[in-house]
Amino acid sequence: MTTDDASTRLGDVRAAIAKAASTAGRKPDSVTLIAVSKMHDAAAIEPLIAAGQRVFGENRVQEAQAKWPALCEATPDIALHLVGQLQSNKADDAVALFDAIHSLDRPSLVKALAKAMDKADRRPRCFVQVNIGDEPQKGGCPIVELPDLLDQARKADLPLAGLMCVPPLELEPAPYFALLAKLARDHGLEGLSMGMSGDFETAVTLGATHVRVGTALFGARA
Ligand SMILES: *Cc1c(COP(=O)(O)O)cnc(C)c1O
Repeated sequence: MTTDDASTRLGDVRAAIAKAASTAGRKPDSVTLIAVSKMHDAAAIEPLIAAGQRVFGENRVQEAQAKWPALCEATPDIALHLVGQLQSNKADDAVALFDAIHSLDRPSLVKALAKAMDKADRRPRCFVQVNIGDEPQKGGCPIVELPDLLDQARKADLPLAGLMCVPPLELEPAPYFALLAKLARDHGLEGLSMGMSGDFETAVTLGATHVRVGTALFGARA
């Protein structure tokens, strides 16, 4: 991908976000675009950085550790978001590298992250991932356990950004986005991490503050 291609794709996605935001009476800058660069190498990422993108997402700690320190050294104002499942034994590494974590989904991870943050004296903001479609194979906190998990996160003094979800594949996502927005309202949380390449505009009209877009920016993954 050349910088021109990257600029075009980035411009298209930003324009679509702005349009969806204005449809919903929201300001375009109330939505953070996270460019999900998982499985793409530095050569694919650099044109997007050159085109002005500064917020990136990865779904694996190890892959991010291999790619990002060098890229961040070249461009220090980059923000990294972890959008994939996190094992408790990787909490230290995740806290050291990421500026936000979108996959807080269980009490053991609340404990591990609290400990890691105290140790590192670094406090990435956390989104609680909700298993919004109640799918057995999917990560995320069951809806019925959300109040308890939020309670534990608050008691552990984790900086809570909001809620995150990945709706069931193949189903109309809007009702799931609306449900996540309602849960966030009910619990006094502002951040809503929802919407991917196929549905980020719908997510923005329903209140997404963070959209996680990979394919529409980088092309298909191998
Ligand atoms: C890969 C991934 C994305 C980006 O998906 P695209 O369909 O390529 O935009 C968003 N969120 C999560 C959690 C992901 O794992």
